Amino acid sequence: MSSEESLSSSPAADRNPYCALPSVNELAAATAREKCAKRLPRELIVAAVRQVLAQCRQEITSGNRQCACSDIDELVKRVEAHLDQAERTALDEVINGTGILIHTGLGRAPLSSRALGAIVRAAAGYTALEINLASGERGQRANLVRDRLCDLTGAESATVVNNNAAALLITLATLATGKEVIVSRGELIEIGGSFRLPEVMAASGATLCEVGTTNKTRLSDFAGAIGEATGAILKVHPSNYQITGFTEAVAIDQLVALARTHHLPVVHDIGSGALVDLAALGLGNEPVARTSVEAGADLVLFSGDKLLGGPQAGLIVGRRKYVEQIERHPLMRALRVDKLTLAALSATLVALAHPRQAARELPLWTMAAASLEDLEQRARRMVDALKMPSTGFRLEVVPTTAYWGGGALPSQGIASIALALTSEECSEGALAQRLRGGSPAVVGRLQGGRLLVDLRTVLPDQDEVLVAAIQAAAQN
Ligand SMILES: *Cc1c(COP(=O)(O)O)cnc(C)c1O
Repeated sequence: MSSEESLSSSPAADRNPYCALPSVNELAAATAREKCAKRLPRELIVAAVRQVLAQCRQEITSGNRQCACSDIDELVKRVEAHLDQAERTALDEVINGTGILIHTGLGRAPLSSRALGAIVRAAAGYTALEINLASGERGQRANLVRDRLCDLTGAESATVVNNNAAALLITLATLATGKEVIVSRGELIEIGGSFRLPEVMAASGATLCEVGTTNKTRLSDFAGAIGEATGAILKVHPSNYQITGFTEAVAIDQLVALARTHHLPVVHDIGSGALVDLAALGLGNEPVARTSVEAGADLVLFSGDKLLGGPQAGLIVGRRKYVEQIERHPLMRALRVDKLTLAALSATLVALAHPRQAARELPLWTMAAASLEDLEQRARRMVDALKMPSTGFRLEVVPTTAYWGGGALPSQGIASIALALTSEECSEGALAQRLRGGSPAVVGRLQGGRLLVDLRTVLPDQDEVLVAAIQAAAQN
């Protein structure tokens, strides 16, 4: 029996508050009586009980005389709160009110219903992941999406890894371990937290050869750097940062022409990776995979969960001989994707066969393309549905600006509509905290002393729960 289990209520509680605490067994039994309908394993209840008792002892130690540590009903409530928290899975629904469509912290692209259906079917049973059903022979899992990726990009071959960072890592490790890779100084980027190009390069075993300056790099800079040790030329889409003004960069087709004369491969990391031209839908001007392939890039790399609107994945398209080398690299086994990702990716690629289909089917694109009138109408309906307590809580419909995020089109905002919340009783920060703590959690954006919930990133079928979540926060 551990020390806390020997503690139990006794008359000594008056003198020693620790003694007023019930034992683990007492509190677990009391909780189980309340929670019996839920039939939680006893181990879970006991773990929560131990946590609550540890908190109580800490409160007593820190001199909090008001703590209700001796009230068994109060303690049972605290244990139940712990259990409710534990029962919520780590990835419960969150309402994205940030206005950032591709929000890495919130899991990037929501998937289409076609992709969700594909995941459920693949997850529930067995699938022909690495078996060719026609021949009965062993196949490669990338075969499930290879042809479609080739159709969409015009490439000879294609493969898939865990994410775009992995795509770059395995590409460099395959083409240039022990060799130099030439990159413009204007493209030595860091993207969100831990992706820093020079570090990925170092991890691949290739050596970075920087050329040019931050704002200007010319073809002659690349030409001058090519030597015996050169393994590849790399071009990287700067994604979340822009150099404007007195600038010069070398276009991919010029790099290709130079590299050909030296028999070197050119790798183009296009980042967000639009597979079809978003400009056709008035959604901006991001690099398109097919354009790079047609310009002669040997390998083009991009993410599956940015503009593509699919699951987390790194797509590698380009020349067959290089794709085959990559698939034979030992890192492939470590970086490969699972059947759920392939199922979702394959379904997403079906939608991308036509921009209009994609705009109808992929939530990311539907949200980006929603009209201001639509958003405003939703906002008004929500305001009408909210029964606000009159005390100091204010809700307005305001114009705002949403962004693609995920490194795509950083300077191009999308006009949007938000619900703006303020309270006389608490700061906008406290309000934001309340909404984050609700169920479902709502993540908004603080701006000008208000909490904004941008409706462009709220999925239309979340409107009702959003109303309920705001209502709950206002009454808290
Ligand atoms: C986002 C991005 C990456 C990293 O992609 P992940 O899929 O998040 O690993 C790499 N390169 C560029 C240019 C990017 O924009």
